[in-house]
Amino acid sequence: MSALPPFEHTPIDGILPTVNQIRASFLSHKTRPLEFRITQLRKLYWGLNDNQDLIVEACKKDLGKSQFETYLTETSWCMNDIVFMTKNLARFAKDEPAPDIAFTNKFFGPRIRKDPYGTVLIIGAYNFPIQLSLGPMIGAIAAGCTAVLKPSENAPNASAVLQKVVAESLDPSCYAIIQGAIPETTALLDQKWDKIFYTGSVNVGTIIAKKAAETLTPVTLELGGKNPAIITKHADPKLAARRLLWAKTLNAGQVCVSQNFTLIDREIVPSFLKEMKNALEEFYPQGPKKSPDYGRIVNLRQFQRLKKMVDESNGKIVLGGSMDERDLFIEPTVIQVENMDDSLIKEESFGPLLPILPVTDLDEAIKIANEVHDTPLGVYSFGNKQEMEKVLSQTRSGGASLNDGFFHASIPTLAFGGVGSSGQGAYRGKASFDVFTHCRSVTTTPAWIEGMLDVRYPPYTAKKQKK
Ligand code: NAD
Repeated sequence: MSALPPFEHTPIDGILPTVNQIRASFLSHKTRPLEFRITQLRKLYWGLNDNQDLIVEACKKDLGKSQFETYLTETSWCMNDIVFMTKNLARFAKDEPAPDIAFTNKFFGPRIRKDPYGTVLIIGAYNFPIQLSLGPMIGAIAAGCTAVLKPSENAPNASAVLQKVVAESLDPSCYAIIQGAIPETTALLDQKWDKIFYTGSVNVGTIIAKKAAETLTPVTLELGGKNPAIITKHADPKLAARRLLWAKTLNAGQVCVSQNFTLIDREIVPSFLKEMKNALEEFYPQGPKKSPDYGRIVNLRQFQRLKKMVDESNGKIVLGGSMDERDLFIEPTVIQVENMDDSLIKEESFGPLLPILPVTDLDEAIKIANEVHDTPLGVYSFGNKQEMEKVLSQTRSGGASLNDGFFHASIPTLAFGGVGSSGQGAYRGKASFDVFTHCRSVTTTPAWIEGMLDVRYPPYTAKKQKK
């Protein structure tokens, strides 16, 4: 029998008392001392460590994730973030002197204090149910905030284990989990927060931002994909195929930074497709369906959405294409599409679909990429050095990986975030501390300086004006 804890929605009438408690704890200054924050982070580390097996079981049940993938992208990911944060917290939290100040201003000791924002709400997405919830939570704890976390109801087993980890590890008067879907999240959004950190789709992100605007609450939004990959004729087709296939098979393509479509020089299409086939056979020698390393689509709704996208596309399936609704299995599927108006290019698939659109040259690829989405979460390019630099200088995106799919997102100290409609604000590394920190500018005017300050007081006599 499974030891997984049950997933239960938090009763709506339990939400307000919880939020009030978490806010009261912030106002009691309990989370201000660095020792408190470091202790909480260390306890969270051990809570994750002690529950690794349950987390693996939960992610397997929710998303068919392999043990290795869960370790790589959920548990060790968060544990490494905690180690980094505890090592560096004292340095991050230290006052900073004002830069480049005039000699006379030095008397006022201008500095920037790192104050916690206050009581924050964190809302997570389903695809990396542990990482996307705890990643921001680690930043909130480090910054000295108190926090309420609302994980995704679409990964119920992982969210239930998360609740167990948080309850066992963290001070319950300062950090709480509310479980639920739209009604519970709406009840949370009806409360006043000092910051909202949201990860999820553009549509819901817009709802969050509108609601937050009513109370001028600052928001960080980590939103959706529509990321282009660009392959020129000078690229190595084998390298591009292996790397892009990996980027679309990790978590069965349910990754916000995966390439949504690939714009590829016509000349290189045959060799790229041959290498894709080779890579697929190499990754999954018995086929992806039988492989313990290939995940599943999170639920029937998402499965049917992806199936409809394939059915409605005018493209031709050139690799893969098999699906099994009962098993929520979708084979990694390469589809050659005719033009940029195909829904597989225009819509975010968030699954293992790899549409490719042949182009004449790099200029055409850049033009199409910018027309589909001028500010995606990521841009990926394969080609020679000049070509990859050209892609960077003629596009915008939250981040970019050259010669790879989304590798930039795996560097733990590199700030991660979107731009424009793919998001605002960033986290990871020091950015996780900064995103929950208010930089409070402070000066101290010494009593002895009053004589020198006399000039600022009226009446502004001719003598004063001459000084
Ligand atoms: P989602 O927007 O459906 O759900 C995210 C969260 O919002 C969940 O906790 C959910 O309960 C809540 N929510 C859903 N509808 C709501 C509503 N009407 N009002 C208030 N709250 C609501 O996203 P998802 O399906 O979990 O994740 C997929 C999307 O998230 C994709 O678009 C993907 O690109 C994006 N994503 C972005 C990142 C990133 O870091 N930029 C990471 C993961 C996923």
